[in-house]
Amino acid sequence: MNRAAPDLADETDADTIRRLFEAQRPRALALRTSTAAERIDKLKRLRRLMYARWDDIRAACHADFAKPAAEVDISEILPVVAEANHAIRHLKRWMKPERKRPTLLMFGTRAEVRFEPRGRCLIISPWNYPINLSFGPLVSAIAAGNTVILKPSEMTPHCAALMQDMLGELFDEDEITTVQGAVETSQHLLELPFDHIFFTGSPAVGRIVMAAAAQHLTSVTLELGGKSPVIVDKTADIARTAQNVAWGKFANSGQTCIAPDHVHVHADVADAFVEAMRKAVTKFYGDRRDIPDNPDYCRIVNKRHHDRVRGLADDATERGAHTPLGDTAAGGDNYIAPTLLTDIDPESRVLEEEIFGPLLPVLTFTDVDQPIARINAAPKPLALYVFARDDAFIERVIGATSAGGTCINQSVVHFLHTHLPFGGVNNSGLGNSHGHYGFRAFSHERAVLRERFSLAFLFLPPYTRFTRWVIRLAVKYMN
Ligand code: NAD
Repeated sequence: MNRAAPDLADETDADTIRRLFEAQRPRALALRTSTAAERIDKLKRLRRLMYARWDDIRAACHADFAKPAAEVDISEILPVVAEANHAIRHLKRWMKPERKRPTLLMFGTRAEVRFEPRGRCLIISPWNYPINLSFGPLVSAIAAGNTVILKPSEMTPHCAALMQDMLGELFDEDEITTVQGAVETSQHLLELPFDHIFFTGSPAVGRIVMAAAAQHLTSVTLELGGKSPVIVDKTADIARTAQNVAWGKFANSGQTCIAPDHVHVHADVADAFVEAMRKAVTKFYGDRRDIPDNPDYCRIVNKRHHDRVRGLADDATERGAHTPLGDTAAGGDNYIAPTLLTDIDPESRVLEEEIFGPLLPVLTFTDVDQPIARINAAPKPLALYVFARDDAFIERVIGATSAGGTCINQSVVHFLHTHLPFGGVNNSGLGNSHGHYGFRAFSHERAVLRERFSLAFLFLPPYTRFTRWVIRLAVKYMN
């Protein structure tokens, strides 16, 4: 890869950021009364531009980390278009105030929940799915009627420049704009009293974002990461399991927040699983000689991350781990082969840190309580995958653990289901995105109650014997 990165290394200064933020204030107020038709029109224009710039998106993703065109289509363009389609189809209904039946105590009132825009929103996105994880939340923010400042990741500069160009074509900067830069720029942004911050990235930076938001009591949605485990029972269809795990793990070269991080496989089928993984990888990418030149296999985003992932593998092998799959063949810059690790020392870093690369540790168990105990001792994962044909086994795993989301006999595809909430829990995130959940993340749910002929006047002072009797009645029977 020869990457002539656009000149995006510069941080954006605090004055420029504050100017943009101030410029969005009147627009945010005006957007409060925007109609579904107006918002749908914006979403349609964004969708149209996604199709018009399809080739540019592929080129930018390739320039940033040699992402295969098919993976760009399925994991960068499709999710954004699907989000836009879903919002376009349902927005009118989502925006409709939700009528609430009166309770006995509130008899004689009329109540509803109105979904109002939060206002000025900040979206900070990561590099691993640069378009998807910027424009996906943007769709929800537009649907909910907000202004947005988007700060894409500095690590995928071609995608960041392209998004700036696309948004510049569609929107005035007092409505939706892009700010380029890295940590310093983020810090300037985080000093401002946004009405909502939607952050996607690592748990470590998530903590920084939440602490900064606390200064203004700004609401946050945090889409974070962590180690997403897989449990494979002896009843699983091993060939299909390996195929689904291999795709979830090695697409994007393992740089996926919900990629299977490691596998717990029943000891009775561990050898068969390793063999099936080898077959699946060979089917997808060819044998180990083919993979370095295979255009269907992505690169690690930069040298720093390449060295980090390689360091995790080296640490494990130096402590005695075996690699039944994977090699150190050179394959152009920042290449790491799909790698399986077995017989791993429990102290190895690869079992502690989020891997975010194409290394798959395989651990064995004889009793499902072993992986369950391990999962419960670690921070709650963003995704947990169960492969089994035994329903009792599946329910046991789901019931005994907590995770942002779960697929049964599949991996990662729950991300594409627009009817499902997508989000983590505790260390893996706060709040949800996608579809209606994304719309609600960017909306304030405002309670509106209208007096008609309620009995509230009976509770007013002076608190006579009669009033106190009415209040006692209410406490006992009317709530
Ligand atoms: P990151 O946290 O390093 O960076 C994310 C964004 O935060 C970038 O725009 C970056 O410029 C900015 N940033 C970095 N340091 C900052 C700081 N000190 N203060 C303020 N802003 C800062 O994450 P990344 O390396 O881009 O992405 C990988 C991580 O993101 C992984 O942990 C992965 O699991 C997670 N992730 C989660 C999801 C999800 O939907 N839950 C999706 C993709 C990635």
